[in-house]
Amino acid sequence: MRFKNMNKVPGLYHTAPYLSQTQTRLLHVNLDESNSPYCVLSPTIFYPQGGGQLGDRGYLVLPDMLTSQQKIGVLTTKRKDEEIRHYLDINEIGFDLLKKQAGQQVTAILDWDLRYHQMRIHSAVHLIHCILEQVTGHSIPYPVRSPLNDESGENHYQLLDYIDKDILEKATTELNEFCSSGHEIQTVNVPEQGNNFRIWKCGRWSIPCGGTHVKDTKEIGMIFSTLKIKKNMTRIALRLSDNSG
Ligand SMILES: [Zn+2]
Repeated sequence: MRFKNMNKVPGLYHTAPYLSQTQTRLLHVNLDESNSPYCVLSPTIFYPQGGGQLGDRGYLVLPDMLTSQQKIGVLTTKRKDEEIRHYLDINEIGFDLLKKQAGQQVTAILDWDLRYHQMRIHSAVHLIHCILEQVTGHSIPYPVRSPLNDESGENHYQLLDYIDKDILEKATTELNEFCSSGHEIQTVNVPEQGNNFRIWKCGRWSIPCGGTHVKDTKEIGMIFSTLKIKKNMTRIALRLSDNSG
C-alpha cells in the first residue's frame, strides 16, 4: 500500500478527497508511449492508479466559443514519472482541437460513484487487517497487494495458516460493529518520513498509505467478506453490502 508520490502537480485528492468537481487548468495534451491521448491538469482532483486503488474516471468540461459546452471523458488516471496523466476518450480530431486549448481553464468532474466506493472499500481493507491482528493475536505483515476494483477490495498475503473461515467471520462481525459505531479516519502527512509520505490512521491503528479514504467508519456501511486460498496466498476479499448484487 506504500507508494512513491513524486508528482509536482498538486493533488487535491489528498487535501480535499471529497471534492468531486473543480475548476482547473489544462496544462498540456499529449500522446503516451502507446499513442494513447492524455492531458495534465493543475491542480487535479483525479487520483492516479496506485497502492491497489483504481485511477479515477470522470470528465472534463471545456469552454467552447462555438457551442455552449464540450465534454471529454477521462477513462483512467495514471502516474508516470512526475506527471499525472488523465487518459482521454477522444479521437484524432478531438485531440488536435484539445491541444489548442492548452493553458485554458477547464472544469474537472469525477466519477464520484467510483471514487467514493474506492474510499469506502479501501478504508475497509485497512480495518480488516487491523481487526484480524486483534482477533488472531498475530502481528500480520502488511499485505503484498491490496487490489481494488469496481465491486470489491482484497488483501493478498503470503499464506497465513492461522486465518480460516471462522476467524474471518469473527473479524468481519467485529469490523461491522466497529464501523457502525462511528470512528474518525485520518490520512496524514508525515514529512519526517520523506516527501509526501502519508499514513492512514483510525483509533490506535495506523498503516502507511497514500490512497484516499472516508473520514468516518460509518460511511463504509455493512461489509461482506470471503476467504480464498490460492497459490500459497491468503486472500481476504471484501464487498460493500450495497454493492453485493
Ligand atoms: Zn489506504
